[in-house]
Amino acid sequence: ETVLELRNIAKSYDMKTLIIQDIDLQLKQGEFVSIIGPSGAGKSTLLRCINRMIEPTSGDIIFDGTNITQLNKASLRKQRTKIGMVFQHYNLVSRLTVFENVLHGRFGYKSTLQGILGLYTEEEKMLALSILEKLGMKEHVYKRCDQLSGGQKQRVGIARALVQQPKLLLCDEPIASLDPNSSKVIMDHLKEISQSMGITVLVNLHQVDVALKYSDRIIGLNRGSKLFDDLPKRLSQMD
Ligand code: ADP
Ligand code: ADP
Repeated sequence: ETVLELRNIAKSYDMKTLIIQDIDLQLKQGEFVSIIGPSGAGKSTLLRCINRMIEPTSGDIIFDGTNITQLNKASLRKQRTKIGMVFQHYNLVSRLTVFENVLHGRFGYKSTLQGILGLYTEEEKMLALSILEKLGMKEHVYKRCDQLSGGQKQRVGIARALVQQPKLLLCDEPIASLDPNSSKVIMDHLKEISQSMGITVLVNLHQVDVALKYSDRIIGLNRGSKLFDDLPKRLSQMD
């Protein structure tokens, strides 16, 4: 089953230079795919075009059987709940607890009122807890996020994306701010998420060795164009 298809995506921020161009891409359910390339290649721009966090200048985005390229805000919001996003700098609310951050991700509109936790149903809380437990964060649930290590913060970022029960998880340089040990923990979790939960995972990375170790497929991006889209095995033979 194809979860995502990009057809001829291009993006210009200034209507003059194309930052990415001619991007075609297909992702199947449960696939783990990495995008690699030097800084400035357009990896982040491409990832953000997928959920229209950045509007592509041209091309089509077909997600979960729907062409979302032209959808209005309300319809897009509905589709976006099925696309989780994980960031390099975590994007957590540091004065809130782990639990609050995770619930906030899915049900953010409720938190405009006072007393965040009281607003969620038992079912919502159980889902958040079970995901945090799977990610090894059970004992940190009631800590404020500013008390966590980088690796722990990133697991909260992943949990916040997973409570949406996404079909696709977009990860923009998820380990770029982490030490090698925390990076391994995060990559192992992302791999597990694709394999056992069947969620499609698309990850921007700049470490080729990490991409080779974890990916089903690797896409190489340079100066905004796709250089290759291949199996890690074939790429390591070419070296
Ligand atoms: P990567 O993720 O591979 O490092 P980016 O997508 O972040 O690449 O950036 C690609 C190019 O697009 C860079 O030259 C960057 O400066 C430019 N760029 C990124 N975001 C914007 C923006 N909001 N406005 C203008 N230029 C941008
Ligand atoms: P990060 O590494 O956390 O993604 P960046 O420095 O790449 O941070 O980008 C931070 C923000 O600035 C992003 O929203 C990005 O789109 C924007 N940005 C990056 N490059 C440019 C640029 N050349 N002009 C305008 N905005 C940019």
